[in-house]
Amino acid sequence: MTDCDLCGRALPTVNPVRTFPPLLKFAYPEGVWKGLCETCLDSAQKTYLSINKDELSCRRNKCSLCGKKGRVYPVELQVPSFSKGVVKKEVNVCTICLESVNETYIRFKREQLEEAHEEGRIHGHEHVHEH
Ligand SMILES: [Zn+2]
Ligand SMILES: [Zn+2]
Repeated sequence: MTDCDLCGRALPTVNPVRTFPPLLKFAYPEGVWKGLCETCLDSAQKTYLSINKDELSCRRNKCSLCGKKGRVYPVELQVPSFSKGVVKKEVNVCTICLESVNETYIRFKREQLEEAHEEGRIHGHEHVHEH
């Protein structure tokens, strides 16, 4: 089991999103992989699309994924809660991380379609390879 890096939900697999934390720039020049659950990935991708349509204005804050300070955009999370079922929460994500989210999202949706097509059901194994 692994945890989603945004909402903390525990899952067998998460979707890998590449981030570039400024503090780890020298240790990891290729970036650091974070894991997002499907709900967070969907939600962050929605934010990404809204920015392109100029529906969202940026704030100055710290990115919840890579820790970079600067221009960020709100992403709505649905955090699982024992008492209330699901609690909505907003986090800030920078444009660089949102770009990575979008890439992961496209790959994830494509694989989902391919797998559903090939096997009629979806497997839980991870896909980190490039096509
Ligand atoms: Zn999540
Ligand atoms: Zn970021």
